[in-house]
Amino acid sequence: MNTKNIKAYGTDSAEADLKQFHIDRRSVTVNDVEIDILFCGVCHSDLHFARNDWGMTEYPVVPGHEIVGRVTNIGSGVTKHKVGDLVAIGCLVDSCRTCKSCKADLEQYCPEWVATYGGYDKHLDTTTHGGYSESIVGDKEFVLSVPENLDQAGIAPVLCAGITTWSPLRHWNVGKDSKVAVVGLGGLGHMAIKLADALGAHVTLFSRSPNKIKDGLALGADQVIISTDEAQMESVMGQFDLIIDTVPYAHDFNPYIGTLAVNGTLVVVGYLGPLDPMLVTVPMIMGRKAVAGSLIGGIAETQELLDFCGKHNITSDVEIINMQDINQAYERMLKSDVHYRFVIDMKSLKS
Ligand code: NAP
Ligand code: ZN
Ligand code: ZN
Repeated sequence: MNTKNIKAYGTDSAEADLKQFHIDRRSVTVNDVEIDILFCGVCHSDLHFARNDWGMTEYPVVPGHEIVGRVTNIGSGVTKHKVGDLVAIGCLVDSCRTCKSCKADLEQYCPEWVATYGGYDKHLDTTTHGGYSESIVGDKEFVLSVPENLDQAGIAPVLCAGITTWSPLRHWNVGKDSKVAVVGLGGLGHMAIKLADALGAHVTLFSRSPNKIKDGLALGADQVIISTDEAQMESVMGQFDLIIDTVPYAHDFNPYIGTLAVNGTLVVVGYLGPLDPMLVTVPMIMGRKAVAGSLIGGIAETQELLDFCGKHNITSDVEIINMQDINQAYERMLKSDVHYRFVIDMKSLKS
């Protein structure tokens, strides 16, 4: 298969900084779309994966799954997109397309789903590489259309931070009578607040950081509860229909379960791993409360969200960085010093 050699940023070990190297992209096949990448968001998952926090990373890694760009070439079987269109690729680039999950537009739960980076690239018999790169070639079914009225950098985080919070909001039928809480004000958290607010819900932010109260309210939260303050936690017991917990590291979920209403659900989207401390079942049993997990969203649901953002003029609050600043951005992300998503201007890699 013909390939094109392009510039990318990534790492070949968990300990090393990210640096520039070259990767191969396949030439477009019949159903492919080639995209010149304009912007790529920086997700905390990029950091987890680059540093092998989940113990599954194969190197080299080129992270990035919040990709926005323009179509530069299409295969003969592509009618959905044309050269010049503003498009996006999120966390998924392929799936089996025949299993129950695929047929239900839940490709993210397909046992054979292919992640945008760190997945198996069947075309080149290698690992997929993400959006910290000049361009990408994707299957037309996994390429999304981006409304032209939105800020191109600001829309990039919708592809992961947005859809990861939108999917639970939709699955648990959040609307104007819902009381939603969001734990952690970072990339996912700030999108969760904006989207829940746009759906008409009453929104509460749980944060460890008193310096984020003002921002939380400005983003659309009706109240901010400092999670380390016991009196504040006590004041919201038994209230929430849905809590979306975006915290990336092990933490105690038990105090949040007490704040769920009867039939409420705490959905974990942040932390991946064993619970420490364990869950106490008493408040769950006494109020038919649930603890659930959720992974990104399917392709149709992601398109639904992009269209919703276009209609309601919703984008992420971004800090635009150059590709060369990525290592400092990761360090700032570890200190929760992101307002509220880094987005890489890919011109910086091309120059
Ligand atoms: P982020 O921008 O770094 O935000 C995380 C927020 O969590 C922080 O801003 C902070 O908010 C809070 N936090 C609490 N304890 C923390 C700690 N010990 N260290 C750092 N932050 C802490 O991260 P993100 O990009 O939103 O991603 C959040 C998590 O979701 C990551 O683990 C990521 O891998 C995961 N993720 C999951 C999915 C999925 O499909 N389920 C998709 C994308 C990302 P406060 O200061 O307000 O407390
Ligand atoms: Zn992500
Ligand atoms: Zn499938």
